[in-house]
Amino acid sequence: MIIVLLGPPGAGKGTQADKLAARLGIPKIATGDVLRAALREGTKRGLEAKAYMDRGDLVPDSVILGILQDVMTSPVTKKGAILDGAVRTVPQAEGLGVMLAEIGKKVDKVLLFDVDDDELVKRLSTRTVCEGCQTPYMGRDPGTSCEKCGGKLVRRKDDEPEAIRNRLEVYRRQTAPVIDWYRDQNQKVLKIDADAPVDEVTARAVKALGK
Ligand code: ADP
Ligand code: AMP
Repeated sequence: MIIVLLGPPGAGKGTQADKLAARLGIPKIATGDVLRAALREGTKRGLEAKAYMDRGDLVPDSVILGILQDVMTSPVTKKGAILDGAVRTVPQAEGLGVMLAEIGKKVDKVLLFDVDDDELVKRLSTRTVCEGCQTPYMGRDPGTSCEKCGGKLVRRKDDEPEAIRNRLEVYRRQTAPVIDWYRDQNQKVLKIDADAPVDEVTARAVKALGK
């Protein structure tokens, strides 16, 4: 099953993708994580993406479609994938659809996590993430250790106030139209009120997926 997670930055896509991956037994694929790993490794793709990411702008569609092509044709996603933040423009949604059709697959479900702006800003400005496995945390200070892998928790550069403002604006301008694009393709968009405790949001998502 291929599930696309939509929603503004801070809505909890990464948090819920981890939960759903464990529950459904299919991997989470987060393009943001792939790009940050590429940056740490100093690859051409990572270096190309860095300036966009630091500002909170979207990296070019060609870069993302290259990542999606690699991942969706890999044995890792044989059983499916939970695509976290991986479809952020209409050309990406179109490109993903075409590449999946070529391998006899399709997007099965689209989930939209809905949270209001004040809560998003609060979440992002207090978020820490593991610099190793990228797990996001709330209420944990930078410098403390990740529960999952023992890595160091850090603040993301794009969780500074100016980058947060830009990311919310970019979401409205470039990503929100993806919701209507899926609807126009007769793909149901399962909207979830994500302003609730993490486990409650997971329960709502599982129910919406019919699992
Ligand atoms: P996204 O991947 O959509 O940008 P994250 O999953 O990284 O969002 O969540 C953003 C921040 O909000 C993180 O610090 C995370 O721990 C926290 N968070 C996630 N879900 C919830 C929730 N339901 N209630 C409160 N905080 C949450
Ligand atoms: P995320 O970890 O999902 O918050 O993504 C962090 C940053 O990576 C974004 O602000 C973008 O700069 C870049 N990025 C991740 N996924 C995409 C995508 N699908 N399209 C364009 N840029 C992306």
